[in-house]
Amino acid sequence: MLILDGKKVSEHLKNQLKTRVEDFKKQYGTPPLLKVIIVGQDKASQVYVKNKHLACEKVGMKSEILELPASLTEEQLIQEIDKLNKDPRVDGILVQLPVPKTISTEAIFKSINSEKDADGITFFSTGLLWSGVDHVFPCTPSGVIKILKYYNIPIKGQRATVIGRSQIVGKPMAAMLLNENATVTIAHSGTADLQEITKGSDIVVVAAGKPNFFGAEYFSEKSVVVDVGIHGTGSGKLCGDVNFAEVNGKVSAITPVPGGVGPMTIACLLENTLDLALKRKRQS
Ligand code: NAD
Repeated sequence: MLILDGKKVSEHLKNQLKTRVEDFKKQYGTPPLLKVIIVGQDKASQVYVKNKHLACEKVGMKSEILELPASLTEEQLIQEIDKLNKDPRVDGILVQLPVPKTISTEAIFKSINSEKDADGITFFSTGLLWSGVDHVFPCTPSGVIKILKYYNIPIKGQRATVIGRSQIVGKPMAAMLLNENATVTIAHSGTADLQEITKGSDIVVVAAGKPNFFGAEYFSEKSVVVDVGIHGTGSGKLCGDVNFAEVNGKVSAITPVPGGVGPMTIACLLENTLDLALKRKRQS
């Protein structure tokens, strides 16, 4: 069984980005700038934002964090986003999710200018993805495709199932696999006979948000399993949606948690920001 080492793939990508950022600085004088907005005091979000900031610094990019209070209204957030949309210094904008319940994610997906959409989550970016037009796309599914390609796992012509249909993981994942010419099934909480579907699939991407839920009965010895889920277990350890201990040795390849998809998400965010910065510079 092959372990798909996302940490290794992310280091490979970040090394490439470091060189590309140096070239960018030589040509344009300043590094790309990612602006991350965090609303409220969610502890996990604060850690994610800090990690993104450190990762930017590691590849020579700039990142600034805009911390806003949980009492912020949706209108105020949109105003802040709009300021960044208009700020010529800013190349990429990311709003760390989740935001407080008083703010709809829909408003965020609508208000970030797609030319600065570092997370690839706006409605416009989503439209481009499903139209098969080249753009920056959501970081987590982009990371999954990169892991599969790094390990030369065929996608074209393969039967791929995505478990989960969220706007930021499941749906874009399905679109990206489709754009790579896989035959794609999107499974969700209303899907009947899921085990039959996943067992008959070559690639299964699991993004259901259910800790240790998917055991050996969901897969075959030919399955390539990508586990997007990430959960704290209370003992300080992390686990995925797949019961790794049970599946271990019974599938052909699997991403571990931690060290699988997670590190790729951040690396793809950096790549998206650089790509957006280059696009804007070339257009101006
Ligand atoms: P979500 O809760 O928005 O969506 C979960 C989806 O799974 C839903 O569409 C639901 O229909 C489906 N689902 C739930 N239970 C199911 C079941 N038993 N069978 C089939 N489908 C089922 O979650 P999300 O934002 O897409 O995130 C999914 C997981 O990925 C979470 O664990 C999240 O923490 C993780 N995540 C990881 C990264 C990363 O960088 N590694 C990034 C984003 C999300």
